[in-house]
Amino acid sequence: VVLVGDNPASLSYIKRKESVAEATGFATFDFRFSASISQCDLEGELRLIREHPEIDGVLLQLPVPKGLNSDALIAVLGSDVDADGLHPFHQGTTLLGLDGHPRPCTPLGVMALIDLAFWKRSQKASADHENDFPATWPLPRADLSGLHAVVIGRSALVGKPVSMLLLERNASVSILHSRTVKPDVMSSQADILVAAVGQPELVGANWVKSGAIVIDVGINRGPTGKLVGDVLFDQVAPRCSAITPVPGGVGPMTVAMLMKNTFEIFERNIAQAESSEQTSKKRGE
Ligand code: NAP
Repeated sequence: VVLVGDNPASLSYIKRKESVAEATGFATFDFRFSASISQCDLEGELRLIREHPEIDGVLLQLPVPKGLNSDALIAVLGSDVDADGLHPFHQGTTLLGLDGHPRPCTPLGVMALIDLAFWKRSQKASADHENDFPATWPLPRADLSGLHAVVIGRSALVGKPVSMLLLERNASVSILHSRTVKPDVMSSQADILVAAVGQPELVGANWVKSGAIVIDVGINRGPTGKLVGDVLFDQVAPRCSAITPVPGGVGPMTVAMLMKNTFEIFERNIAQAESSEQTSKKRGE
């Protein structure tokens, strides 16, 4: 875990990530740097971290302080240790729908929550276990053929990659952003609505189609200082078939997907080490 500066929200996010990592059996290494570190010095430190023999995956906590270029830092870390799935190579493999590569964690978490909503729907239709969580993981991948998904937000962190994952599942996807005219009208046509805007409680009941699945990615401070999402939960919840809360919805799933990505990088590294050991043996080295 690499943290630059002491942004209180970032500190609380990494604390949660580290405690989940420890609880699930990962060794964690904490690298903290002052907000005044230069781009050049930080890049040098990241080069050392990425070469550390015991480290499989690196999380660079975003956002980094003003004056630092996060794109350049992610590029320096390289794709091999990219547990976040945010390196341009992995944005590319996500766009192309190539399997076997880390994908951005928050979009992966959003898709897992959509799968959960469909799984619960199927349980409700077939039995009386509607509140149970599935006993096995991963859940069946929901096929979104014929459904309209609307994503509000087009960031590289959430909006764009989650749109690609929805498209991969055969949804017809609309992406809205700050220049969209009448976003509420477009949003109210969605069977699946993903809000990744960063505007406290922007999405009211009139933005949501009755029976929609609503995934709220936003984490914002409301006027009273309370954590709220992009969706006005109390107004929207009665209209939809499933909705994620803030806090407690997408956030924990993002952390879970960070663990999944890291574990998969670890497995790949083990497989590569075994294969090069076998090659050396064959050559008699
Ligand atoms: P971002 O980079 O600021 O992007 C926000 C997007 O929303 C932009 O594409 C922007 O459009 C669009 N937008 C802003 N105002 C809008 C409006 N009134 N109508 C329609 N679109 C509008 O933010 P982000 O990094 O994607 O994060 C979004 C939210 O998710 C934030 O609250 C963040 O804290 C949260 N987040 C949560 C998690 C988690 O684990 N739960 C992870 C990542 C982010 P333009 O492109 O035109 O500016």
